[in-house]
Amino acid sequence: MPIKVHDKTFDIYLSEAEIQQRVKEIAETINKEYQGKRPLIIAILNGSFMFAADLFKHLTIDTEISFIKLASYKGMKSTGNVVTSIGLDAELYGKDVIIIEDIVDTGKTLYNFLPKLKDHHPASLKIAALLHKPEATKFPLTLDYVGFSIPDKFVIGYGLDYDGRGRNLKEIYQVV
Ligand code: 5GP
Repeated sequence: MPIKVHDKTFDIYLSEAEIQQRVKEIAETINKEYQGKRPLIIAILNGSFMFAADLFKHLTIDTEISFIKLASYKGMKSTGNVVTSIGLDAELYGKDVIIIEDIVDTGKTLYNFLPKLKDHHPASLKIAALLHKPEATKFPLTLDYVGFSIPDKFVIGYGLDYDGRGRNLKEIYQVV
């Protein structure tokens, strides 16, 4: 069933079960790769809050989580300006950091932000993105964990919004 949000129509693209299964698989990989370590998860707000929470629940290793806020989007268009509005208060020095992002589109947000994180000298730095739009990505980024590679179409749901709406959807919807 298509849904309407503001002026746009969206069709279901990923079901709740598909998302939950993939999130669990990523958590299991992280559990294996970080055995004996204590990674610091840094979730980038707002969009990644559901992904981060579900992923975090499946982590069985000793771990911590912290949240930061960046923004480069308004409506359906990237403004290109990355703004940090909630700063980094966790100590990163010597830590194994895993960044949790909802979606990598052009890659600009993370590409601009990574050097700021690297300045804190974490022991290691990896990126987990629930969604990746490879056709749209223009900035060189290595994504260590990717939930789904998707076409270059605007999506909402599971934490992702269209002008503030749609975040509460359990599924991911694609604009028609
Ligand atoms: P990038 O800097 O990679 O171009 O964009 C990253 C940010 O833009 C994401 O964290 C997300 O907030 C937003 N974004 C990119 N593509 C989409 C999309 O299809 N839907 C929604 N809701 N947000 C998106």
